[in-house]
Amino acid sequence: MEVSTGQNKQKEQDFLVASISQLSISNSTSPQVVAKFHYDSGVAELRFDPESDPNGSLHFDLHTSRLFKLSPFQSVCISEASEMDKEKSYSRGISIQFRNEEESRNFHCAFEQWKTEVVVQESSLPNGTVSSSKSKFDDKIEASSAKMYFHYYGQLLHQQNMMQDYVRTGTYYAAVMENRVDFVGRVVVDVGAGSGILSLFAAQAGARHVYAVEASEMAEYARKLIAGNPSLGQRITVIKGKVEEVELPEKADILISEPMGTLLINERMLESYIIARDRFLVPNGKMFPTIGRIHMAPFSDEYLYMEIANKALFWQQQNYYGVNLAPLQSTAFQGYFSQPVVDAFDPRLLVAPAISHVIDFTSTKEEELYEIDIPLKFVSSVGTRVHGLACWFDVLFNGSTVQRWLSTAPGAPTTHWYQLRCVLSQPIYVMPGQEIVGRLHMVSHKAQSYTLHLTLSAKMWGPGAEQGGILQTSSGKLDLKEPYYRMSQPQAYPLPQDQQPHQLLQTQDIQIQPLDEEGSDLMQQTLQDSGAELHSL
Ligand code: SAH
Repeated sequence: MEVSTGQNKQKEQDFLVASISQLSISNSTSPQVVAKFHYDSGVAELRFDPESDPNGSLHFDLHTSRLFKLSPFQSVCISEASEMDKEKSYSRGISIQFRNEEESRNFHCAFEQWKTEVVVQESSLPNGTVSSSKSKFDDKIEASSAKMYFHYYGQLLHQQNMMQDYVRTGTYYAAVMENRVDFVGRVVVDVGAGSGILSLFAAQAGARHVYAVEASEMAEYARKLIAGNPSLGQRITVIKGKVEEVELPEKADILISEPMGTLLINERMLESYIIARDRFLVPNGKMFPTIGRIHMAPFSDEYLYMEIANKALFWQQQNYYGVNLAPLQSTAFQGYFSQPVVDAFDPRLLVAPAISHVIDFTSTKEEELYEIDIPLKFVSSVGTRVHGLACWFDVLFNGSTVQRWLSTAPGAPTTHWYQLRCVLSQPIYVMPGQEIVGRLHMVSHKAQSYTLHLTLSAKMWGPGAEQGGILQTSSGKLDLKEPYYRMSQPQAYPLPQDQQPHQLLQTQDIQIQPLDEEGSDLMQQTLQDSGAELHSL
């Protein structure tokens, strides 16, 4: 049963119970009581209406109530005194007698669902609250996906994995500490705080107060970590909830976050970062990171292509224990090519200088991330078979003192994001100087990721090229949610005897062509100002 507070959704649920009695008052038993789960104007409560006494209703706030089973037919419901007012108010409890075991079971089940669905997360935190209405996040994301996602991030080992990516964490640390001026005396919101590490960095840099917002169970560990670092922790408040739902007592001067997934956009957390900007940041406030860029270039990799194609060969067998597997061969072939490949590859596999797509976190509208359409145009440096499109990203911390890039480029120190390659089931042939055109169309889906539609075409080349025709086209549809993690494969790429190394394309030195004029200014500025930083990560 789904219990929710959205428009068309259930706002009330009733149970008839045999009797209730208040724990603190003797002889207060009321027979035949309707227990009503009820949601109205942001308040979720459990109300007991005795049939004999319409004025004798008892109200329990679901935020603070807990239910315990004493026997198959009997339970107690305890509502804790409010955290803020423990001196003056007392916890209350009632004993509930059910008519049979099944009703008791149903009631417990309903109680749990109302608590988890209606009371979005524990609310009423000292310095921030969680609204219980349905949020933008719930509208866009399937509940099952969100549940797995936050379960994943609720585990310390995954936070550790990110923390141990020293390129990542070291760059954040440097970007914060080298730009103390942006943090000293400022209010900071850490969007998706995880372990709280970035909040602690911000506090080290002199933040006046940091609100660490984290939706997963990791919020509890963050509290513990922060409490164990009291000199910094006294300026940090952990708020458990989604940035789309929590309320904060004040606006932020600067947001800090690590919302990047594979290909920058996987996990769709950039949208939460943008929503946090619109909800919490003062006008012209700073964002760390400030912009992100997706870089793309065609690549040639016979080994990888053969490896993927060979996987589907299993289904070519016509006598597998007497069974012909061939009817599924083409499905298997397509299936393997629909998985983007995640690994660290040698930049010599790139056959043309990269192009990039800029996302300015300070100005992009959240809706602009629902569908991203990138026209592709490259000039091949070599004659080769092109097997697909290689992608990576970087983000800029546009600090007042230092501008620092966090790069995931091939050839740069490897990060836990590695790089991503979309492999086409039909390679295309190109000659040196030949133009490769196409499109990368990325459409978000409700499982916190994107469907990638890739087309690459080899333009007419040599005599007749001026007619601008297409010689050969290849397309693929890939699901960013289902990558093939290939990191355990050997990283060395011995070049075949007859193949000369491609002209070495230094991915970090590639001149970026920003898409809009504003981005262009920023990039010009950035490239001038950042100098060595751009290359030294
Ligand atoms: N800031 C930490 C963790 C980054 S991982 C660090 O840099 O080490 C991203 C974190 O954001 C995860 O812990 C995830 O649970 C949290 N998160 C993702 N979407 C969120 C949302 N909408 N609201 C609150 N937290 C979110």
